[in-house]
Amino acid sequence: MSGDDEQWNDSNRAFLQALMARSTLTLDEAKPLLAAIQTTYERRETIAEDITEADLNAHIAAANTRISPFDFEIRSTYHQTTRKRVYALVNSSSDPIIQLATIHTAEEISFLKRVLDAMFETYNTSRNEVMAITSMQAVRLHKAPDRGRRDTQDGAATQGSTAQGLKMIEAEKMLRTLVDEGWFETSNKGYYTLSPRALMELRGWLIETYNDVDDDDDDDGERPPRIKQCVACKEIVTVGQRCSKRSCHCRLHDICVQNFFRMQRSNGCPVCKTEWTGDSFVGERAAPRRSGAGSNANTSRITVDDPDQNNDPDEIDR
Ligand SMILES: [Zn+2]
Ligand SMILES: [Zn+2]
Repeated sequence: MSGDDEQWNDSNRAFLQALMARSTLTLDEAKPLLAAIQTTYERRETIAEDITEADLNAHIAAANTRISPFDFEIRSTYHQTTRKRVYALVNSSSDPIIQLATIHTAEEISFLKRVLDAMFETYNTSRNEVMAITSMQAVRLHKAPDRGRRDTQDGAATQGSTAQGLKMIEAEKMLRTLVDEGWFETSNKGYYTLSPRALMELRGWLIETYNDVDDDDDDDGERPPRIKQCVACKEIVTVGQRCSKRSCHCRLHDICVQNFFRMQRSNGCPVCKTEWTGDSFVGERAAPRRSGAGSNANTSRITVDDPDQNNDPDEIDR
């Protein structure tokens, strides 16, 4: 057990445990943590301000060496709106949905899949690339869909399990849990989106699940990918900007736009050369406006997507 362990000390161990306990970490959050760890384990009185990004990177490198045989890895990405680098402990081999299934019931996982389908299919159209869902829209998905339902061919996942779905109150609780566990984030306007941690863990799964074109009813073949990557940083865009030409697949994060066009020395879309106007969005800003009074045809087309599961909150039992 000894051997090359001189690199791995109590301080490294404490850091890894702290990261495991909180699922994600930013440099700002790491500073007081590492200061406390150094003070305690290395007997060096340290204050948060003394901690640098290099200190954090050193701990992450040590931890990554240690955990890689177990298929874990600390990865990082930039938060799409705060621009902060977020570090997360990610399982690099197993299907994240299977991982989630170890701590949630089958009904909860089915609900989560329905919410993800809604985020990336129902509310991710070529016109409105919202990729986010309000709690009201999400809670309406509490019931397992009836067998004969249209929608996607996702039936395979839920059918055969005599799925009941969740009670509305359970669906609400599950949404909160997903926030607490670091999978979802909520916006000021009440939209749920995937957190940076979820985007890191689910990246492969999302692309595989939603960009798969194989069993499309081969109408002239080419459906645009539902999950798109930023042309600057190559990470998935769920909040950002899109080319104003609707058929163009070019996307950029808000946080990537400025640098990208400065480097490019032109404000044309890098794919189709259309002028980049900066007012075509991906994310909740792409959601159709709800006029408080009488809603219009546009809105109802989007919101009345589940005629089967309308508002009967009282018919929940057992
Ligand atoms: Zn980007
Ligand atoms: Zn374009």
